[in-house]
Amino acid sequence: MKDYQRERYNAAALTLSKKLERRNFVAIICQNLTAAKNQALELIDQDKSVGFGGSITVEQSGIIDELYQRNQKMIDREKTSSAEERHQVMKQALTADYFLTSINGVTEDGELVNIDSVGNRVAALTFGPDKVLAFVSMRKVYGNLATTLEMVRKNTAPLNAHRLGLEKTPCIKRGNCGDCLQSECICNTIAVTRRSMSKERIIVFLIIDEIGL
Ligand code: SF4
Repeated sequence: MKDYQRERYNAAALTLSKKLERRNFVAIICQNLTAAKNQALELIDQDKSVGFGGSITVEQSGIIDELYQRNQKMIDREKTSSAEERHQVMKQALTADYFLTSINGVTEDGELVNIDSVGNRVAALTFGPDKVLAFVSMRKVYGNLATTLEMVRKNTAPLNAHRLGLEKTPCIKRGNCGDCLQSECICNTIAVTRRSMSKERIIVFLIIDEIGL
């Protein structure tokens, strides 16, 4: 990343962190994903349980491996062997002490926008785990709510559909979202988290590097 880009993102992150705090979120500015991972590891009590939702940013950070290495109690749907078991583990993750996730888009005013297929990620963000640790790149701060919703729907969701290997949706066939209602659709819930009721329950790591979808 060029110095001027980093400078701009740092300035914007400082502004955004104040907006997030007004909404009862905690904002932590990190220059890269490794720094975010390290800070998150420090915040997670080693005696408590950790759940996580589907997020390539969380996966790429390496935090899951490090939590396993230090014998953290993990609620991990990837370790299941059937659809039913996976479903049950995803339910258990909603009662984890900590939940790791990422955010699809953030407004300049600090609202968190997510699009979810199963809904477990937005469920955990909304209620359940005592603390939610969410990674998001400053690249995903798009503007006002309408713009952010549009970017998440028109850009992030089709990219995710291709990543997940869907076959028949308009975003696969044409490359653009067709607002589908197909059985394969991954855009079942679009959630705006405008404030946290519990102060400091949701910790947002604002990452200066351009990462994630
Ligand atoms: S609503 Fe359907 S077409 Fe649009 S991005 Fe989601 S899966 Fe693709």
